[in-house]
Order: sequence, then structure tokens, then C-alpha cells
Amino acid sequence: MKLSEANYTHLLEKNYEKALSLGNRYSFLNANLFPLLSKDEQDMMTEIQEVCKKLQKEADECYVNEDAYPLFPKLGEHYMLQRMNTYNGVEGSCKRQMLLNMCMVQLSPETDFAATASAILVGNSLYHNPERKDLQEKALKEIYRGTKIGGIGITEIEHGSDAVNMKMKASIAEDGSITYNGIKIYTTNGAVADYFSTYGVTDISNPRRTMMFTLFERGDEGLTTERLRIPGAYGIGVAKVNYNNVTVPAERMLAPPGEGYKRLFRGLTPERVAIMGAGIAGSWAALAHGVIFSQIRHQFGKPLFKYQGISHTLDDLYSKVAANTAFAFQIADFYDAKVGNKIEKGEKPNPMDEGSVAIMAAQGKYLLSKMYHKCTYEVVQTMGGRGSISEFNSNSIINRLENVSRLIEVLGGHRNIQLMIVEMGIKATTAMSITGNVQKGKREERKVQKKITDLYATRAEKILVDEAEFLSDGTKTELKMILNKLKESTESKNKIELAAYSKALPRALRNASKEAYKSRKK
Ligand SMILES: Cc1cc2nc3c(=O)[nH]c(=O)nc-3n(C[C@H](O)[C@H](O)[C@H](O)COP(=O)(O)OP(=O)(O)OC[C@H]3O[C@@H](n4cnc5c(N)ncnc54)[C@H](O)[C@@H]3O)c2cc1C
Repeated sequence: MKLSEANYTHLLEKNYEKALSLGNRYSFLNANLFPLLSKDEQDMMTEIQEVCKKLQKEADECYVNEDAYPLFPKLGEHYMLQRMNTYNGVEGSCKRQMLLNMCMVQLSPETDFAATASAILVGNSLYHNPERKDLQEKALKEIYRGTKIGGIGITEIEHGSDAVNMKMKASIAEDGSITYNGIKIYTTNGAVADYFSTYGVTDISNPRRTMMFTLFERGDEGLTTERLRIPGAYGIGVAKVNYNNVTVPAERMLAPPGEGYKRLFRGLTPERVAIMGAGIAGSWAALAHGVIFSQIRHQFGKPLFKYQGISHTLDDLYSKVAANTAFAFQIADFYDAKVGNKIEKGEKPNPMDEGSVAIMAAQGKYLLSKMYHKCTYEVVQTMGGRGSISEFNSNSIINRLENVSRLIEVLGGHRNIQLMIVEMGIKATTAMSITGNVQKGKREERKVQKKITDLYATRAEKILVDEAEFLSDGTKTELKMILNKLKESTESKNKIELAAYSKALPRALRNASKEAYKSRKK
């Protein structure tokens, strides 16, 4: 018998299925979140959840057909692909985006992932364009409505974390038309996207000054896409996108050379805030599965929840998720008040505020993407074998959540990149107060190092006299050269040479001592 001919069964029993219904999972979420929300925000969540409950059948079909996209136009009807930006009278903010994520992830983690890439990443590239052309306005509307799909092109084969040094070659002709040559990879939605917002540089040796941003469309001559097989991105068309001499008219320019670099960095903060939204959303969704299942499943005559091995794991996660949710909301509110609202009104945000929120967003993205994975992994274990199955038309989506959770840490800047930004935060927020002490610390360390080098130099001079007959000419020449260079660089205050020869002296002295010892023995 071939595996492809084997029938699937449905293992999750009716009682679990009923208890894990979307309505019950929302009820757990709301009981925990509503005390933190305004009446408007609560109403928004309730409305979205009602739509999601009605879309459950379609969402299941998307999963069965391994295609996250048929839900897009249905969600777009209710402006449920994004709620970060106010559009057509529907209020948007970072916090509202997080609340949307929390409802959407429970319906379909895959569609939520794809929607964030389309409506936030590409949507923002159009929304935040101060001089939006008609064509760009049309693209934005279609993306928000879900009738068209967008993909963002930053990452390249040789440039992932180091995206700034991208090699996508862009050029602008006299008539303003733009030509791109190069390859972007991991473009979420790229396999099916209608629009591509893509970064390129007019001078690869000077990306900061020459980075630009352009809108491409499927059908542009020379633009081709190839899907990547990514098991975690089930039903999501992540792709490699080839730009082979693709020329588009001037009206497709989203940001001119130099401005693209600022847009890339300005765009990363809301992108990370949206990823934090996915992080808290996925964590609450996982917790909902764990707390519901463990109270129903019995082993050894008692519900699993009665065993502290299970309940304490859930208690620990519950506390951490609650704390991280408060942090995420705080970052979202800060961004909305100090940055988002100003950009919306065409004002320039205070660079200090932009810097602070960039650091907070990096902290939050780092913590929440890890937490999403930790929560789903632990709840999968809490559910035993039932945690490992991913049945079609089932209310348990824990395994799908775990699958998607593995991707969240990679996107929008990998873990160590977030930590590098956090590190800049540590330096920046201590610079005003302790710069003098840091300099003093360095000076004192330099004094100690100088003393050590002087001791080595004295030993080197001594060995050159005492052991001269046991040293080869080569060794003597090397030691003398290093001692001379040390003297010269000290006199000329050449710090680079001084550091290099101070480092070279101990090794040369060690080799000389060994050589002298060996030949003396002979
Ligand atoms: C499912 C999926 C969807 C994606 N969607 C998009 C998209 O829509 N658009 C897009 O442009 N990109 C997208 N990406 C790409 C994603 O942003 C990159 O994968 C990510 O930035 C990391 O780049 P990389 O894969 O080249 O890894 P690398 O940069 O090679 O990193 C590999 C490892 O090295 C570490 N590392 C790198 N540099 C340093 C350093 N200086 N110090 C310490 N550690 C370091 C990283 O933290 C990581 O652990 C997607 C990726 C995936 C997997």
C-alpha cells in the first residue's frame, strides 16, 4: 500500500474539540485582556471575533488546501488585514494591530502571518509615502481590501542580517524610469503577490546614500518568482524573486536614492511592533489550548491540571505572557503617541523618541518571538500526543502555532540583531552619565597594559644579552625589531602600532625562550 492511499482519521475526541472551540479560546483571551482595554478596544475585538467565528469554515478549507490566501478578500471586507493605520474611517494604531493579531492568530496563524507581510510591510510602504501617486493609492486600497497581495523585498542571498549592504542594482534613467537587476529571497507572499515593494541601491559601494524603494507588479517584464519550500510556512508562498532588467515608470518610486535607507529603518520599528503582536497573539493562543485541554484530559484518575508538573508549567507561562503583554501594549502606545501620530500628520517625530522606541521594539521583538515559541512548545508537551497532531477541520491548532512560531524569531531581524540594537540602547542610555568614568577606566587599563609591556620589553632585552649565543639570528632580529617598533610607536604616539607590537612581543619572547632552552639543552 502506498502512503498516499492511506486514509486519515480524526483522533481528537468530541469533548476536547468542543472545549477548544474558537469561541472558548476567545473567551479565555477576553477574560484576561479586557480589563486592560478601553471600551472601544473591547468592542473592536468583539466585532473582529464575530467575523472570525463566521469565517472558521473557510479558514479550515484554506488549511486543508494548503493555501492561506482565499481568506484575504473576506478579511479585507472588514478591514481585518491590518489595523495599524487609520484608513477609510477605520481607526488604526499599533495597539489595535496587536489586538487584531490576537484574534486572527486563533483563526489561522498562517493567514495572520501572510496578512502581516502584505498589509503591514507592503501596506506601510505605500501608506507612509507622503507623495502617494494614484497608482500607489490604488495598490494600497487593493492590499487593504485583500483583493491583491503584497510582498516586501529586503533580504538577498548574500545579505540577510546585513541587509544594508544589499546588492540589488537600481538605476534611474533621464525620463525617471527605474531599472532593477538582482535577486531577493524569502519574500513572504512572493509566490502569489501582485505587488512587490523592493529596496535597491544605485551604488553598491554606498548603500546608505543611494538606497531607494520601488513598487513592482507581477507582469512587469523580467520579474519572475520561484516558491521556496518552507515547512513552517504551511500554505504561505515564500519566494525567491528575480529582477532581470525590470524597468518601471517613475510613478512607481516609493522613495528616492538615500531616502530608501531612512524608510528601511523607519519601517523596521512598526514591523517589529507587528511581529510583537504576532508573538503575544500566538502565546495567548497556545495558553488557551493548554489551560482548556489540561482541565479536561484525565490521567491516573485526575485532570492533568491537578498535577503540578502541568499546572505550574502553565502558571509560569501565564505570568510571563501577562507581563510581556503589558510591555507590548506600552511599546505600542508609546509608538502611537510619539511617532505614529506625528508621521500620520506629516510632522517629524523627535529623533530621541524614535531612538527610544526602536530600542524598546527590539527588546520586545526579542522577548516575544522567543516567548511565542516557548509557549507553543511547552503546551504541545502539555497536550502529549494530542499536541503533535494537526488535523484538518479541528479546533486544536496548537501544532500549527508551533510551526509558525519557529519563523517569528527569524523575521524582521534575527535574535542577535535585536540584541545588537539593545546593546546600542545600553550604551546610549548610559553615555550621558558615565562617559567620564568609562574613559578613566580605559586610561587606567592602558596604564596597566603599558606596565606589562615594559616588563616584557625588559625581559626581551635581558634574553638578548644573557642568551645571545643560544638564539638564532632570525629570532634576535625579530625581538630587536619589535623592541624598536615599540619605542618608535611610543614616541610617535601611534596607538595602532603600539597595540600591535605590544601584542606581538609576548609571543616572540615565548618562542625565543623555548629556542634558547632547547639549544642550551643540546
Ligand atoms: C519564513 C520567512 C519569511 C521571511 N520573509 C521575508 C520577507 O517578506 N522579506 C524579506 O526581505 N525577508 C524575509 N525573510 C528574511 C529574514 O528577514 C532573514 O532570514 C533574516 O533577516 C536573517 O537573515 P539570514 O537568513 O540571511 O541569516 P544570517 O544573516 O546569515 O544569520 C544567521 C545567524 O547569524 C546570526 N548573525 C548574523 N549577523 C550577526 C552578528 N553581526 N552578530 C551575531 N550574530 C549574527 C543571526 O542572528 C543568525 O542566528 C524571511 C525569512 C523567513 C525564514
